[in-house]
Amino acid sequence: MAVNAVFLEQIVQEVLQKVVNREQVNQQKEEQVLFSSVDAAVKAAKTAEKELIGHRLEKREKFLTAMREAAVQHAEELARLAVSETGMGRVEDKTLKNKIAATKTPGTEDLKPAVMTGDRGLTLVEMAPFGVIGSITPSTNPIATVINNSISMVAAGNAVVFSVHPGAKSSTLRTVEILSEAIVSAGGPRNLLTAIASPSLENTQKLMEHPGINLLAATGGPAIVKAVLSSGKKAIGAGAGNPPVVVDETADLEKAAKSIVAGASFDNNLPCIAEKEAIVVDYVANQLISYMRQNGAYLASADEVDALVKLVLTSEDKVMAEGCTVKPHRVYGVNKKYVGKDAALLMKEIGREIAQSTKLIICEVPEDHPFVLEELMMPILPIVRVPNVENAIALGCKVEHGNRHTAIMHSQNIDNLTAFARAVETTIFVKNGPSYAGIGIGGEGHTTFTIAGPTGEGLTSAKSFTRSRRCVLVDGFSIV
Ligand code: NAD
Repeated sequence: MAVNAVFLEQIVQEVLQKVVNREQVNQQKEEQVLFSSVDAAVKAAKTAEKELIGHRLEKREKFLTAMREAAVQHAEELARLAVSETGMGRVEDKTLKNKIAATKTPGTEDLKPAVMTGDRGLTLVEMAPFGVIGSITPSTNPIATVINNSISMVAAGNAVVFSVHPGAKSSTLRTVEILSEAIVSAGGPRNLLTAIASPSLENTQKLMEHPGINLLAATGGPAIVKAVLSSGKKAIGAGAGNPPVVVDETADLEKAAKSIVAGASFDNNLPCIAEKEAIVVDYVANQLISYMRQNGAYLASADEVDALVKLVLTSEDKVMAEGCTVKPHRVYGVNKKYVGKDAALLMKEIGREIAQSTKLIICEVPEDHPFVLEELMMPILPIVRVPNVENAIALGCKVEHGNRHTAIMHSQNIDNLTAFARAVETTIFVKNGPSYAGIGIGGEGHTTFTIAGPTGEGLTSAKSFTRSRRCVLVDGFSIV
């Protein structure tokens, strides 16, 4: 086992070194795919986009098939690279995400023109490409986001310049290279997918300002979504979530417990859609917790919760004036060092040994606890008891913070399900299943890893990256 780990680590280091070497070689000769300047990347992408438009849709589908096959083939290798580089998440879950992104992201079939005919002729509304898209990608889900965005954006006829998270640079750039190579091997243009070889906040800023970029797509936290929306360009913002899962007294508790443990522990809770806090009607809370423990969750004691708060959160006391009094107020943040780490490692850091196989830590906390209010992205699920479903729905809406991202509910009462769905107004609402069913993993519907709540595209696909264009033929033939 130890020998295997050393061997795998060697392979990972070799691949990372190859990416660095290739970047250096690229800088010396004519650059392709990975560019040292934003301007060069945009220019090369523009040339490739013009070439793509000259190909039939049938050919474009061939490029997509090649990308899908390459992504599946390299799914595990890239997952391993991402976990090794970022120190976040689980290889098996990232591998699944990469494969799902490769196989369940729609292609050109997503582009459906509208036609209007009548006495005055024929009108066609086409879904035209934007041109060159600037795609800004996260560290928490670096590979599947690039696979998913590449397929959607190219399917729509665009070229892409990626500005990747510096903390996931090597694994994300390797993904861009692999997908790009697949397009070329299928007879497509080389620089349809490009990236900035040295990603940085400064280069992302340059990309946002570049006149050759026709559309921006940001997948990340509040700062980058705000930045693209302030750029003056058309932008798609896929931002943060804090998904509540509500369990009422009518729920199938065994199924609910299993689903919640599976969803909240998936990739160590990194996905923006993952259950981040459970709000449970008191009458069924003990039973639900018991089933969650039977499904592999570890119930932390009050002392352990206090120690975990000190470990995984940062805190600062701010003095705030309230009316005539001055009140101290504690402001919490997330300690990035522990984002996406294994449950057993988090417990070890506070001096407790639990089974390595433990996927999720659960704990009972009051409704204003920072574990409930902060987007932790760790396998820690706080549970809040409430007296009834009305309180559960009200609290679910409050802690979702108006992100309108994702919410989950376990109930067999249609009125209760409808009441929460209407009140919380999220882009994804999952009933009686794990959160990831909402992105097509064990649920119906296509997959995306760019969920654009703030700008309203919802679960993005090829059509999200098109412009509506009307083509009108007047009369067409003579009538009497
Ligand atoms: P992040 O916001 O730190 O980084 C995302 C990208 O934005 C990176 O490429 C980063 O370099 C860039 N960036 C961030 N701030 C910037 C600034 N001020 N100027 C220029 N560039 C900037 O996010 P992360 O930690 O990598 O990812 C986690 C966050 O992303 C979570 O909040 C999660 O909910 C969210 N997320 C959302 C979706 C979705 O589809 N809605 C998907 C994945 C992740």
